[in-house]
Amino acid sequence: MAKDKLIGVDLGGTTIKFAILTKDGEIQDKWAINTNILDDGQHIVPDIVSSINSRLQRLELPKDRIVGIGMGTPGTVNQTEGSVKAAYNLNWKDTQYLRQAISEGTGFEFALDNDANSAAIGEQWKGAGENNPNVVFVTLGTGVGGGIVADGKIIRGVNGAGGELGHIVVEPDGYLCTCGNRGCLEQYTSATGVVHLARDFADEFEGQSELKSLLDNGQEVTSKIVFDLAKQDDVLAVRVVDKMAFYLGYALASVANTLNPAYIVIGGGVSAAGKFLLDKVDKHFKKYVLSTVRESTELKLAVLGNDAGVIGAASLAREFA
Ligand SMILES: [Zn+2]
Repeated sequence: MAKDKLIGVDLGGTTIKFAILTKDGEIQDKWAINTNILDDGQHIVPDIVSSINSRLQRLELPKDRIVGIGMGTPGTVNQTEGSVKAAYNLNWKDTQYLRQAISEGTGFEFALDNDANSAAIGEQWKGAGENNPNVVFVTLGTGVGGGIVADGKIIRGVNGAGGELGHIVVEPDGYLCTCGNRGCLEQYTSATGVVHLARDFADEFEGQSELKSLLDNGQEVTSKIVFDLAKQDDVLAVRVVDKMAFYLGYALASVANTLNPAYIVIGGGVSAAGKFLLDKVDKHFKKYVLSTVRESTELKLAVLGNDAGVIGAASLAREFA
């Protein structure tokens, strides 16, 4: 029988998402299980193997129709070994040889990449990237991640750090970042970064602002609240969003001047602010890009949401077709 199905696995700190796709990237079945990170994360791989095996059995899908499994994981991936290390939110302390373990457990070919690259490939292939071979993806969530597809290839670099857009320095000697540097994009444009900016701006702000009242009263403020208030013309919130949009537009302009992709796709929880955010970022972006880039590189919002990870992961398995 012809091999015509891909399996995608999106491994996260709280859930593991699975999908079975056609070779053209249409999702035919998807499911998820909780990530059991107890006992140094030693249950994760066996859980993945048994979940795939039992699902295929229940669907009565013959194993010889599966092209292979692709997986996106947190941490630093070693492509040669098919291994990952430094995936701390999974409680994995040692290097995990995922390809060997999952291949043996399922009998399928197995490809691996980090979760940011997987999501980038997903959006590039089946999402806002429209399968263009030159697409950059930036995700604004708790942190800021990124992935670069250039001339049809994911850019991984010599040590797996290619596409780490979140650590582009946008403010020399600025906010301290988790990476140890200061002034990284992530510290200004992630969900936590937006709130950090809001607190700093509120300290110096004098005037009428609901955002200021919320912060001064010690109420919980999220990036969503900041954006919602900015949409209602709250003066302080608008100031915060404008600054955040400046940082993102400024950083993405340098990325665009370097790579000249067809699209830079903005995803992640913060991007739920939608066109309101996109228009503001675009204004700064257009100011800093070369004219040739301005005419050919477009900023877009991501469209796949949570499915980007499994779709991109599955696409990694296309190499076995
Ligand atoms: Zn950093």
